[in-house]
Amino acid sequence: VGSPEDPAVGDLRRSGRRLTRQRAAIWDVFVADPERHLSAEDVAAALPDVNASTVYRTLDVLVDEGLLRRTDLGGERRYYERVRGHAHHHLVCERCGAVEHVHDDVFGELGVRLRAETGFVLGDREITLFGLCSACAG
Ligand SMILES: [Zn+2]
Ligand SMILES: [Zn+2]
Repeated sequence: VGSPEDPAVGDLRRSGRRLTRQRAAIWDVFVADPERHLSAEDVAAALPDVNASTVYRTLDVLVDEGLLRRTDLGGERRYYERVRGHAHHHLVCERCGAVEHVHDDVFGELGVRLRAETGFVLGDREITLFGLCSACAG
């Protein structure tokens, strides 16, 4: 452990503070709109003062820490969203791109039935269904 005068320690402290401030800024983007699914590009666009590669790196750190989850919505659509207390799934509109959440209850006894038929034990499941949202189907 170096003294406060040690330039390496000073650099570390400064970079730590910077990271903390940037983390807080990135986290605030998700807090501001908790239902939204944000791509890394969306987050970077919301924070023009933060270097884009820092945004991408910090998003991955927040995923590793269990604060954000990476949600794959098909194709190149990879989004970040806040981790929730309960399992939830996604309904993706193939026409307008809208993403809705649906509670785990909708799938009823899926896990029990899967295990009975195949022996497969469903893990922390996340299901993405594609179709038309009510507006597009309307
Ligand atoms: Zn739609
Ligand atoms: Zn979601």
